[in-house]
Order: sequence, then C-alpha cells, then structure tokens
Amino acid sequence: MGARILAGAPAAQAILAQASQRAVKLPDRPHLVLVRAGTDPASLSYVRGKQRHADIAGLRSTVHALPESVTLPELLALIATLNADRDVHGILIQLPLPAHLPVALLQEAVDPRKDVDGFHPLNVGRLWTGGGGSDHPLLAPCTPLGVLALLRHYEIPVAGRRAVVVGRSDIVGRPMAAVLLGADATVTVAHRQTSDLGAVTREADVLVVAAGQPWLMTPDMVRPGAAVVDVGIHRIPGDGHQLHLTGDVHPEVANVAGALTPVPGGVGPLTVAQLMLNTVIAAERQIDWRAV
Ligand code: NAD
Repeated sequence: MGARILAGAPAAQAILAQASQRAVKLPDRPHLVLVRAGTDPASLSYVRGKQRHADIAGLRSTVHALPESVTLPELLALIATLNADRDVHGILIQLPLPAHLPVALLQEAVDPRKDVDGFHPLNVGRLWTGGGGSDHPLLAPCTPLGVLALLRHYEIPVAGRRAVVVGRSDIVGRPMAAVLLGADATVTVAHRQTSDLGAVTREADVLVVAAGQPWLMTPDMVRPGAAVVDVGIHRIPGDGHQLHLTGDVHPEVANVAGALTPVPGGVGPLTVAQLMLNTVIAAERQIDWRAV
C-alpha cells in the first residue's frame, strides 16, 4: 500500500495558466519588481526562478540588484520610489538579505497593495481577520496559498477536517494556519516547544509540515490515510558525494499516509506560481483603482 503522490507541477501549471489568462485582460502587463542585495547564492537563484516564471506567465519583471553594502536609507528610498511608481504593481524583497538590514522594517515599507509576498502587517492582519481562502481579496503569502491550491487540485477535503500545521514561522506555519482556518478546517499549530508532537500530528486528516527539520515526521506520527504536505527542503548527502533534496517527512510515511507531496516536485513549484498570480491580483486592483 502506498500513498497517492501529489505532484506539484500540474497544480502549479493551473495557477500559472490562471495568472496569464487574467494578465492578458489588463490594459498594462502586470509588472513585478524584485529587490535583492548582496551575493547570497540562494537569493540569486530564487530571483532567476521568479523572473523565468514571470516570463512564462506573460508578466514583466525587473530586478534591482544592490551591493552587499547597501544602507537602510538607500533601500527605503528605492522602496518609496517603487511604491509611487504606477507602472510597478508588485514589489518583492528577496530574502536572505545581508545581515545588517532589518527585514521586518523593509517589509513594512512596501505599499500593502504591492506586497505580493503578503508579509506586510496589514495583509497579515487581514488574513487573520477575514478568512484565508485563496479567493479572499487580499495578498497572502505564496507558499500557504500554493498548498491550499494543491489540496484543492487533488480534491482533498479540508472543510470540517482536522488540520495540523507543524511550524509557526511568519512565512509558512502561521499563514498556513490562517489559510486552512479560512478554508474551514479545524486547525492546530505545533512547534518546537510542543510536547508529544506525535500525539498532535496523529490527530491530523491534513498534515502540513514546515519545521525545517529533515525527516522529522516519521510513519508512527501520521494517522493512516492522512494527507501529508511536506514543505521542508533540505540538501543532504546521498550516494557518493552527491547532495540530494529531501523534506521534513520521512519517505516511509508513504506507507501510512493516504496522500503525500514529494520533495522535490511537491510544494516548491507552487510557491513561485502563486507569486505570479498574486502579482496579477495586485495589478488588477491597482489598475481598477486608477480607472475609478
Ligand atoms: P523556520 O525555521 O522559520 O521555522 C520552522 C518552524 O518549525 C518554527 O516555528 C519551529 O518552532 C518549528 N520547529 C522546528 N523544529 C521543530 C520540531 N522538532 N518540532 C516541532 N516544530 C519544530 O522555517 P520556515 O521558513 O517556516 O521553513 C520551513 C521549511 O520549509 C524549511 O525547510 C524551508 O526550506 C522550507 N520552505 C519551503 C518553501 C517552498 O516553497 N517549498 C517555502 C518556504 C520554506
């Protein structure tokens, strides 16, 4: 008996198709601006992936690549210019930033209407007050929206079900809990201080694991038949000297779960696809507001 494998690509393609169909209806092509600083290779490769997906979805994208030494006032001035520019619909501050830059302060400087990452406190607040379904009219973080889109794509029931989220980061765990609550699940959030994690996770019909701990979730911690979404990504040594990608969920969970996202090829493609859709949503609203 093996779990049904929930590949991310078909769900991601559906999101990208929706983004491009909506983008062509607008008088201006939606424009995403990516701001990055320093030389971190991960930040560089994320930005390249986002630009490639913007091309696929028919969006414009521009990168502002700043030196490691960029100052907070310089970055704030750039964000203020982008906020005021009517030709810019989405602004994304690519993480990680050089250590001297205060991430939260920069995220708060972005106009909430252009905050395609959904990290601005206004958008975070709206997510928690308004219900977090992907149709809800706000900009919410891309990974949680992508996970909900994946569950919907594979027709995994969420409403009325017990959902457990492992992890409470601002990027994944907390907004994931809000999105599942908005989709009418009964939600529990577990974290590093949770005692008897397995007892909590065994309650889940839908289990989303975003703990950043390789193979944290073992088969004994999963209810038979549960749908398990593995958000974690880790590079670990494989055969020989090769590194290979793995997640927060042990591969043997496939023997217990009813459905399981693979790593790689599960949640990863959804995050960037959802970013394109968020950019289109932001553009639709800004262009509409200009018309009235
Ligand atoms: P984070 O380190 O900011 O947060 C991890 C959370 O997990 C914390 O809230 C912590 O309390 C909890 N946690 C850690 N160890 C735990 C344990 N032993 N038991 C229970 N809870 C524990 O990480 P993050 O930014 O939320 O990312 C989580 C993982 O998801 C990482 O592997 C990251 O690379 C990956 N990620 C993937 C995508 C994607 O698109 N697929 C996007 C974002 C993050």
